[in-house]
Amino acid sequence: MSSTATVYLDHNATTRPVPEAVAAMVQALQQDWANPSSTHGPGQDARRLLAHARGRVAAFLGCSVAELVFTSGATEANHMAVLGAVKASGRDRDRVLMSAVEHPGLQALAQRLQGEGVKVDLIPVDAQGRLSLAAARSLIADNVALVSVMGANNETGVLMPVAEVAALARAAGARMHVDATQLAGKAALGFAASGADLMSFSAHKLGGPKGVGALVVRKGLALPPLLSGRQERVRRGGTENVPGIAGFAAACDRAAATLPADIEHMGALRRRLEDALSALPGVHVYGREAERLCNTLCLRFGSLDAEQVLMKLQRAGIVASSGAACSAGGTQPSHVLLAMGESELNAKAGVRLSLGPETTAAEIDATIAAATEHLLPLLAQAEAQPVSLGVS
Ligand code: PMP
Repeated sequence: MSSTATVYLDHNATTRPVPEAVAAMVQALQQDWANPSSTHGPGQDARRLLAHARGRVAAFLGCSVAELVFTSGATEANHMAVLGAVKASGRDRDRVLMSAVEHPGLQALAQRLQGEGVKVDLIPVDAQGRLSLAAARSLIADNVALVSVMGANNETGVLMPVAEVAALARAAGARMHVDATQLAGKAALGFAASGADLMSFSAHKLGGPKGVGALVVRKGLALPPLLSGRQERVRRGGTENVPGIAGFAAACDRAAATLPADIEHMGALRRRLEDALSALPGVHVYGREAERLCNTLCLRFGSLDAEQVLMKLQRAGIVASSGAACSAGGTQPSHVLLAMGESELNAKAGVRLSLGPETTAAEIDATIAAATEHLLPLLAQAEAQPVSLGVS
């Protein structure tokens, strides 16, 4: 990052690794660097470190040690869950249900599966981003292999009714996968009580390093591996990322100790930010009536393009992000906001401000001041010059 004065409000994209995680990684790289599959002493030291880390991550995620498979992150865990569950199901189960607002990696996988003859149905959300349980109920049937619904949406922070959907899936004999990436470090977690069969996580969303995550696989469920090899009880091949896993475990320890206080802190600051920004003319907050993550604020400033808003904020030292993606063909609207019924114009206007445990009240006040100073004039200007309809 260019300067220490930067206000970082993009914690849903990635978080700064906590010092405990960095220290654990350095120690693993310097001391326990051998291959944990080696039978000699140094290898066994690395193996012990791995086992110790596995116990701490499992405790944080609320699963047993045997249910935890380390992966390269949530994208891999999502692929392993969906492809594995489809393969493990009989031929009479050739359908997958997924929420319409899943992470782009899962959406792309759904498209790939459709090309391979698997039928994928999207469960819609309402204008607040809440999953339609009625639609889930009408789509579930005994030919469904898997239902995949995220724990919380990464753009809006809206929480999904995981337990209810899991009960529907179970009654129909289907498996349930939860992409819980955005819950970790921001909400209480408990795999065992969730009713899910499979749950994905990523370390870099809760103070750990990038390139490491986990898939929790309910005891008794045999999934074909995505990567072949003897590691992780033959469920995920490839030498384990021992330093990354050590960092993941340290981040889990820290989050477990500070979670209630973090939730309160982030929630109070998010409310302060939301109350101030929503009072500005033309500002619309997404999912305001829905249950949301404590740290996430998704909003638009009139219909100002997100890129324009983000650039103004960045010039004022505030970094955030949007769900809209830039591509060669211009800005692509956010699929999440489109699924919530927004127009293409507004779906390119959504800006996500996501807080972390380290966010301060002074940073929130600086953000409010910057938005008021730099975005209000833009909004007024846009209002004075309505969008051209091409009629001169
Ligand atoms: N799922 C969700 C909901 C996410 O927010 C992310 C990260 N943007 C991912 C999956 C992908 O995680 P990773 O970077 O570990 O592959």
